[in-house]
Amino acid sequence: MLSVSAAHEQVSRHAAPLPPTTAALDAAALGLVLAEDVASDLDMPPFDKSLMDGYAVRAGDLKDGRAVLTVIEEVTAGQTPTLSLSAGQATRIMTGAPIPTGADAVVMIERTKMLDDRRVEIEEKAPAKSGQNILPRAHEMRQGQVVVKAGARLRPQEFGVLASVGRTSALVHPAPVVAILSTGDELVHPHQKPGPGQIRNGNSPMLLAQVCRAGGVPRLLDIARDRVEHLRSLITDGLHADILLLSGGVSAGKLDLVPGVLADVGVEPHFHKVEMKPGKPIFFGTWQKDDRKALVFGLPGNPVSSLVCFELFVRPAIARLCGLTEACPCMIQAALQEDFNYRTDRPTYYPGSLSLSATGYEVRPVAWFGSADLCGLLPANTFIFVPPGEHRFAARQSVPVLKVE
Ligand code: AMP
Ligand code: MG
Repeated sequence: MLSVSAAHEQVSRHAAPLPPTTAALDAAALGLVLAEDVASDLDMPPFDKSLMDGYAVRAGDLKDGRAVLTVIEEVTAGQTPTLSLSAGQATRIMTGAPIPTGADAVVMIERTKMLDDRRVEIEEKAPAKSGQNILPRAHEMRQGQVVVKAGARLRPQEFGVLASVGRTSALVHPAPVVAILSTGDELVHPHQKPGPGQIRNGNSPMLLAQVCRAGGVPRLLDIARDRVEHLRSLITDGLHADILLLSGGVSAGKLDLVPGVLADVGVEPHFHKVEMKPGKPIFFGTWQKDDRKALVFGLPGNPVSSLVCFELFVRPAIARLCGLTEACPCMIQAALQEDFNYRTDRPTYYPGSLSLSATGYEVRPVAWFGSADLCGLLPANTFIFVPPGEHRFAARQSVPVLKVE
């Protein structure tokens, strides 16, 4: 059976960044990846700028740090100085205002005292240095200089820099649309009361939340019944998305029709079954027609299997379609907070509660009875990786864990 890492490679091989489109730099663009180099349209700052509230002076007037100077004008941010400074003069200046010609230093307000409405006494501890408290023109960026490179993820600081160079839109890799299709004759919608033999569809809302967190745009489809025709029409609809996520119907049961219908509609299978617990029956394939392409994941219907398979395979696929290159899923080491005995025949992802202490990450296994037990995951925020075998892990032993948001 295929290993988790070999399955990863398959997914990575087929998941390429989506073609760039122009997007407004609004809330929906947060977290997207830039697909162009962006250059500044001006020098920043556009003038020599004061970094302090105080007085613009000539450093030569303050050889021992002290002087009484004549105040010739006041400049606040947004104004421009009208007078140039001569020996023995000062201009009252606010943070962000342009430095008047003739001045080459700013003395902070705390080191000054007004003697009357024309004269200021300066008491610096040391001689003033030319350039002190001044940010020179173009120190931050020059006109034409690339300030944000293609491949950058749009975080708040990129938003700020792009706006300051005049951009309200940019070329980005769009967030992938992820269609979610739960299958099963036993399923009813969450607002319905289940009849005999029925259960509510919890997986669709759970997957929707996971898609949002992973940076995708979810599109919920109706519940597909375990009938070839119904399944086929909903799958055909779902193939309009960048990723089609199916839940249920991929195991070996009589009504596990998903792999057959996917083959019928032209989905090329890449793997079906991975050596892991929970989640073994997972299916992955790709579909292509003209310039349209979709990645297709068939997740097992058991809720915890679905959730774990999403974190291991779908989240990295979404990240790659978004144009991100950093490796995920994110495995880290954590120290066990208690003894943990566990026997398993397959590599297992066991739910745990991860916390950060003064000495590093710590993890505690939670009470859990298997892949159908979603409630067991409520106190969990991680999965402890356990290789096959009979284990007696001692408290404080370090184990690998899969970090989940
Ligand atoms: P399946 O993979 O279709 O064989 O389903 C495995 C188990 O998961 C069965 O007990 C299903 O009832 C349950 N299941 C399947 N789909 C869902 C769903 N959308 N929400 C909650 N449980 C589900
Ligand atoms: Mg089913």
